[in-house]
Amino acid sequence: MVVNGDNVEEMILPIALRNAIKYNGKANPKAVLGIFLSENPEYRSKVKEIMPIVEKVVEEVNNLSLDEIKKKLEELGEDTKKKEKKERDLELPNVKDKVVMRFAPNPSGPLHIGHARAAVLNDYFVKKYNGKLILRLEDTDPKRVLPEAYDMIKEDLEWLGVKVDETIIQSDRMEIYYEYGKKLIEMGKAYVCDCNPEEFRELRNKGISCKCRDRAIEDNLELWEKMLNGELENVAVRLKTDIKHKNPSIRDFPIFRVEKTPHPRTGDKYCVYPLMNFSVPVDDYLLGMTHVLRGKDHIVNTEKQAYIYKYFGWEMPTFIHYGILKIEDIVLSTSSMYKGIKEGLYTGWDDVRLGTLRALKRRGIKPEAIYEMMKRIGIKQADVKFSWENLYAINKEFIDKDARRFFFVWNPKKLVIEGADRRVLKLRMHPDRPEFGERELIFDGEVYVVGDELKEGKMYRLMELFNIVVERVDDIALAKYHSDDFKIARKNKAKIIHWIPVKDSVKVKVLMPDGEVKDGFAEKDFAKVEVDDIIQFERFGFVRIDKKDDEIVCCYAHR
Ligand code: GLU
Repeated sequence: MVVNGDNVEEMILPIALRNAIKYNGKANPKAVLGIFLSENPEYRSKVKEIMPIVEKVVEEVNNLSLDEIKKKLEELGEDTKKKEKKERDLELPNVKDKVVMRFAPNPSGPLHIGHARAAVLNDYFVKKYNGKLILRLEDTDPKRVLPEAYDMIKEDLEWLGVKVDETIIQSDRMEIYYEYGKKLIEMGKAYVCDCNPEEFRELRNKGISCKCRDRAIEDNLELWEKMLNGELENVAVRLKTDIKHKNPSIRDFPIFRVEKTPHPRTGDKYCVYPLMNFSVPVDDYLLGMTHVLRGKDHIVNTEKQAYIYKYFGWEMPTFIHYGILKIEDIVLSTSSMYKGIKEGLYTGWDDVRLGTLRALKRRGIKPEAIYEMMKRIGIKQADVKFSWENLYAINKEFIDKDARRFFFVWNPKKLVIEGADRRVLKLRMHPDRPEFGERELIFDGEVYVVGDELKEGKMYRLMELFNIVVERVDDIALAKYHSDDFKIARKNKAKIIHWIPVKDSVKVKVLMPDGEVKDGFAEKDFAKVEVDDIIQFERFGFVRIDKKDDEIVCCYAHR
């Protein structure tokens, strides 16, 4: 079948073959659909048309022997090549000797999904070229340092699978920055400026230098010492660039400033701090960086930093500026997260409403899924919108095969069913993994169902059980047994609903990423789960078990 001009069947076949190889010759249509949509998100709106094709292809594939499946996949050499090409696209230019790269976050909070791109891609390239990865904690703004963040960042990277070879903390390197700052003053390339910042900006915008620019080197050095001794406030050291540069922000930008706020690591030992556009190039050079990966939003910074390289006669690393990754529908700003936590709006850095890696971990998002997602996003120049759906589809590939299935009803309503005998139902913990064993649901007349789901006079099918007709919906609903045959349910367009025996239920709370809390019940065998397990509540979604006491608390991952 042809959709959007593509032969969808041909696109699905290799996915189904690969899935079948992974699962002992039996591809799973849902998994195949998930992979197909994650690779071809433009088809997301066409699921209804795609699903029957997936089912058809999967059926054909599952009728083949494992050897035939492998042979067929080999015959489709073209697709494996496509994968190789994708990997080939992820290459660094100018690789000569040893590659040295760095991931340079500010320790103002733990890492969030936005940081993951730089962290993963640096790690990926360093591993690919057998190079070295430096974690550089950029803490030269004492006001924006959260003491716990140093350790949290290390933990987050470890979880993500990023291997750090060396850790550098900028606040340990103040003397180095001073040394190079002084050199620039001595070279006549930098000056101490005590102009009022507003006045400076006004002049600068007109392309006129301020009175400080022509100060004698000796006078600058004297002022510099005074700055370091804490004798001056409201002064900055500026780099002489081009006072008529077409971008006014580049004209004599500041490289040091006075800041009297005590630093969480060094206290009040220092009161002059380098600005990013100074400390970053000095470190990148001294630490031997060969490649710097950063977003396009840093292009002007790269241009500013190029002056430092030029004045010192240093060779610049290769800069790769990738497109902006727009991440929506989640809280990412470190300052608003911090504020929210302090005010009690969020329970902590791992509150499920936040976009931190620890919040995603808590929801059951696997680090492997984030890593894979960031590799796919890659280092393209074009801006991209982060697709949560894609991340979820990738995550599902990692968790689906191990997630046991359970019934769950939320906003529970009690339903009494007349006219049916007690029944004992045995269901698999996982449809494709008999080795996971079975669970038992006992029907004995009273069940919980999802509130608001029932309408008087309508027929419903209780999942895996029988058909009922609802007679009354009050605080407690009443229904009559109708029939067992599934065909009757289908003919009457009866909705299939989940149910939990009232007698054997387990209290459950599910924390949703939008802040909603869903209270309900799960079947008795759900009590066997352990904290950290990821399971699927059928028809509801995947959750990670977060806490187990008199009720079980879960965090919602995705459908
Ligand atoms: N600490 C800076 C940041 O996180 C460094 C970026 C860079 O130099 O590439 O934005």
